[in-house]
Amino acid sequence: MKLQADLVIFNGNLITMDPENPTATALAVKNFKVLVVGGDEQVVDLVGSARRVIDLGGKTVVPGFIDAHTHITAEGIRASHVDLQPTRSVEDVKQTLRKVLPSYTTGQWIRGYGYDESFWPEKRYVTARDLDDVSTENPIAIDRVDGHLTSVNTLALKRLGVRLDQAGMLKDRKGRPTGVLRDIEDLYKKVRPPDDEIRQGILAGQEIANRAGITSLVDNASMGVFRLIREAETQELLSARLIVNQPAETLKHMMEIGLTSSLGSPMLKIGGVKSFVDGSIGARTAALSMPYVDDKKNKGNLFLSEKTLTAFIKKAVRSGIQTVTHAIGDAAIETLISAFENLSDDEKATLRSQRHRIEHAEMISESQIRRVVSLGLILSMQPNFVGVWQQSGGLYEQRLGAERVAEMNMFRVALDNGARLCFGSDGMPYGPLYGIWSATTHPNPKVRLTVEEAIRCYTMESAYSVFMEKNIGSLVVGKRADFVVLSEDIMKVPARTIRDINVEMTVVGGLVEYSSANR
Ligand SMILES: [Zn+2]
Repeated sequence: MKLQADLVIFNGNLITMDPENPTATALAVKNFKVLVVGGDEQVVDLVGSARRVIDLGGKTVVPGFIDAHTHITAEGIRASHVDLQPTRSVEDVKQTLRKVLPSYTTGQWIRGYGYDESFWPEKRYVTARDLDDVSTENPIAIDRVDGHLTSVNTLALKRLGVRLDQAGMLKDRKGRPTGVLRDIEDLYKKVRPPDDEIRQGILAGQEIANRAGITSLVDNASMGVFRLIREAETQELLSARLIVNQPAETLKHMMEIGLTSSLGSPMLKIGGVKSFVDGSIGARTAALSMPYVDDKKNKGNLFLSEKTLTAFIKKAVRSGIQTVTHAIGDAAIETLISAFENLSDDEKATLRSQRHRIEHAEMISESQIRRVVSLGLILSMQPNFVGVWQQSGGLYEQRLGAERVAEMNMFRVALDNGARLCFGSDGMPYGPLYGIWSATTHPNPKVRLTVEEAIRCYTMESAYSVFMEKNIGSLVVGKRADFVVLSEDIMKVPARTIRDINVEMTVVGGLVEYSSANR
């Protein structure tokens, strides 16, 4: 019987990430999977019958990127909110909001996101007083770039019913509410958008991913959103594979019905259970062993005690459910690792196969890395943070001082100690190429990765972290045909220019989901 293909690509420079067959020039797809990967001569017979044939003209192809930590649905929803990322001062935020004000009706919520005061001359958060200058007739809520802090105006404080004694609400010297709210979970539930807005957000998020060369993502979606993602999947609307972490409070229900991580379809899977040990460095809520240098009495917040964490992890481990736990500051990381060390030997023996992940782990030390390796845990880190905040004079230096910052995000040390290290962006910004640039040009030269290692962390290692290394992460016969065509040869260009490489085409399961030519 004559072989047929759905798609054939040839005359390319394929970086397969398959150690047995590292380079190739051609690839054929059948039924969403890789049918052939090799030299052009190996696909010649398939060209005539293929539904689509692409001459790559020598362009470089890499396996589809897998972003191991995102809030892609939230990002998609935010596409309809006011983008405050480009603002450069408090006044600039006010101006930006004033400009959009006429498009809102009186009383309608105005949502904004992405402000980062660390880039401003004032270096202070936006307060209710600032936002009251914009409007007293529309409730306003704007999120800081890290999503751990929200500034609201006085009307929004009233609408949300925030009490004066509510934990997380910052007060001024006279005890008045400033309108700056830190890590208040309930707040997000109260400003949850309607289903239709979420539906549109899911699709917008998929587009953001495909444009960046992402073919699979781990989404940290909030309560109730999974149902709508599942709806989109049944309508065949998903163009990137989603692995969706579930909020910690769902663990009990998952246990009751015997639901475990990785259950699902090729396009949509259930991830792990997500909890938070601390907050972020930007909001000064990351839990530290030594105080912040720009807030000398503050060591951040530990949201969960070692005892509570141990009990939670024990439950998950006994039920075979992956845990996905946010820990950024050194004290938070210590608490989390200790919680795993508190398990019984029998429980510890199952950790490696259950692939528990530590999210961020930005301030992990070498000795902590060794403990993580011996426990069999995965480090899920964000090289993208380095590019944005870890540069000289940047946010991390303002908060922690140059000495401590040099020892952060030590990717090289992790790999040299045998750690499993997967990469994600956390949406800061979305862009594996940006992250690969960050990891290969790390301000501390001793902890830089090679380009190949960085690609591996953003493909195969991320696949491993979601139990999908047999299906995605490299270009191998039988795996899903997920790949990206790049404008330059990522292995040959100087590392400092990697972030300028364009994604020309993103293919998921053999289907072209994004092409720069159609822009
Ligand atoms: Zn996150």
